[in-house]
Amino acid sequence: MESLRFKSIEKAISRQPLEVTFPSVKTSEYFAINVFNKTKMREYLSQEAFGSVMEAIEKGTKVDRKVSNQVSLGMKAWALDRGATHYTHWFHPLTGATAEKHDAFFEPASDAYVLENFDGSKLVQQEPDASSFPSGGMRNTFEARGYTAWDPSSPAFVMGHTLCIPSVYVSFKGDSLDYKTPLLKSLEAIEKAAVDLCNYFDKSVTSVNVALGCEQEYFLVDDALFNARPDLKLTDRTLMGHSAAKDQQLADHYFGYIPMRVTAFMREFEIEAYKLGIPVKTRHNEVAPNQYECAPVYEEANLAVDHNQLLMTLMKRVAKKHHFKVLFHEKPYKDVNGSGKHCNWSLITDSGTNLLSPGKTPKTNMSFLAFFVSVIKGVYEYQDLLKSSIVSLGNELRLGASEAPPVIMSVFLGQEMNRVLDDLESRVSGRKMDPDEKTELKLDVGKIPEIMPDNTDRNRTSPFAFTGNRFEFRAVGSSANVASPVIALNTIVAKQLKDFKTEVDKLTEKGVKKDEAIFQTIKKFILASKKIRFDGNSYSEEWKKEAEQRGLSVDDDVLDLLRAIASPTAMKLFLEMRVFSQLELEARLEIDIEKYNKKLQIESRVLGDLAINHILPTVYRYQNMLIENVKGLKELFENSEYEKLSSTQKASIKEISLRSAMVNIKVNNMIDERRQANKIEQNELRARQYSEKVKPYLDEIRYEIDHLEMIVDDQIWPLPKYRELLFIR
Ligand code: ADP
Ligand code: MG
Repeated sequence: MESLRFKSIEKAISRQPLEVTFPSVKTSEYFAINVFNKTKMREYLSQEAFGSVMEAIEKGTKVDRKVSNQVSLGMKAWALDRGATHYTHWFHPLTGATAEKHDAFFEPASDAYVLENFDGSKLVQQEPDASSFPSGGMRNTFEARGYTAWDPSSPAFVMGHTLCIPSVYVSFKGDSLDYKTPLLKSLEAIEKAAVDLCNYFDKSVTSVNVALGCEQEYFLVDDALFNARPDLKLTDRTLMGHSAAKDQQLADHYFGYIPMRVTAFMREFEIEAYKLGIPVKTRHNEVAPNQYECAPVYEEANLAVDHNQLLMTLMKRVAKKHHFKVLFHEKPYKDVNGSGKHCNWSLITDSGTNLLSPGKTPKTNMSFLAFFVSVIKGVYEYQDLLKSSIVSLGNELRLGASEAPPVIMSVFLGQEMNRVLDDLESRVSGRKMDPDEKTELKLDVGKIPEIMPDNTDRNRTSPFAFTGNRFEFRAVGSSANVASPVIALNTIVAKQLKDFKTEVDKLTEKGVKKDEAIFQTIKKFILASKKIRFDGNSYSEEWKKEAEQRGLSVDDDVLDLLRAIASPTAMKLFLEMRVFSQLELEARLEIDIEKYNKKLQIESRVLGDLAINHILPTVYRYQNMLIENVKGLKELFENSEYEKLSSTQKASIKEISLRSAMVNIKVNNMIDERRQANKIEQNELRARQYSEKVKPYLDEIRYEIDHLEMIVDDQIWPLPKYRELLFIR
């Protein structure tokens, strides 16, 4: 029987790029064609309904029952025109994926005919039987109901034949069970704090949006090869596999020529993305072989988060047609770069001013500095919370592995901005400034260059970098729902902006002039957050030592860090900013830990099965071939010659025996440790046991198997090898 590996290689090699038919019109003509956006609403809704939805979007007001009936009629009419037959509330449960439960539009009305049925009540709220989604113990089974409710700030869209209505997901009692609910609350918190502070500088600002642009990295692999790797199928990463002789040493993939099969795939998902109003703009090869990146133009954060989730779904769907699998895992392959999702984050006012962009005048620059130092101080004060928002079993393998920032928070500002802050720190004095000093300072502040080209991408090793007009959070993992880091960041900064204002108000009440109060507060924030600023190489060993000396958080234990989401510091922050309740935080902690635990359990089971059922039998087969060979030599040759001629084979036979014995023993030990761990009732203790006792075996067993892979006849090795997974396309 020909092995699955060779069949899959043959299949993968013979693939041709698919023909992608381009729409015959310009992109702008079909962009967002499947989105119920403002233009479509104006067309399909009554004046009253349109006005009410716009108000809900812009001011966060509620859409009342009567109006929602009108909206649903309009939305339905539009969706039917787009060929939809079903509708669903589309939401982000804490599994990390998106969820949908489709209902048909029609309902039997009499024996004879059916009605296309979808009224306002179904638009506004639904009650999916959702008892299987994680709730962290918040939902007892007797009140297992969860509700999804329409989020008017993210437009409905048609995907395939289904009208998808972006929704929040809450429990019977109103506790959030998803990512969107706290995200919306964090956006509200930062908007309020930002508008309040902005009004010091510009009274006309009434709203501030968070802008978010997510650069999505991913790997592609041919689906035939993927299907021959049970580890990839079940855990999204390879649990074994010796490095290919060549992978990324020559850096010949990065920004290189995109293979035709891949280009065809990219084109097609881009077209589909455009139809859904996702403004994808950039595509290129990444560092590792078969690794790519896709980045849209930034959008309002709630929409950007929805779009990133939608884009990932879309990519997976389109990949199917092209016989690819998209790997969003942070580290699908050992020893080649993993994937991240850089989150570019800034604050933009209703008049389009980017508050993190230096302006032309001293006044705009004072506002810029106030926001700028608030972000930096936020990162300093809530390092563990930020870390907690991005760690996971997958990202743990990527972070700190000389390819991604370590699990230490620091902020890169670049020479120019460091100089500006140092300058301010030394020039602003605690005492009352005389008018000349003030004028000079303002002049200085006015001189901050508007564009800092040199500054933008100098340091790729920083987890959190200022890139000229935004901050870039680079520690985020490729598979993450970015709501998680964005919620943390929004809330942290909201708190700092609020504190900034309180501080200035306190000073002005004491009679200090407003501009001087602002300067003094900026200085205070600079001083308070100095330790987090670092422009050097974050990948270096020296930085780890220095960070520790500075007293920064260097803990990289995922379980410790997950805990930080419900630490007293985080609890206080989230309650004050009204983003999470105590119950919700405890539930989230519970869910994160459970997820970590279960994923580890799955990885360990898959590795055990593969080792015993795939690897060892193959290895013994090869060993038998060697034994036959040695026996044959003995028959043919004299003793002295035989000894010489058979020594290599015998050494291999021995090595195979020793290594397979190790595999066997270690798999059994791992199973024992799992058994012990599974008996532990308490979630966190069980996870701890898994992480300390079970996890180390994953590497130890792999080590033996990867060595066996190098000995055994390539013809009988059962799993596609790294050189095949990474290079066939
Ligand atoms: P890079 O050099 O990091 O690849 P790009 O210019 O490609 O930078 O931008 C990366 C992402 O940052 C894109 O999604 C882009 O739209 C986004 N971005 C640019 N400016 C801002 C901003 N002011 N706020 C938020 N995101 C931004
Ligand atoms: Mg970038």
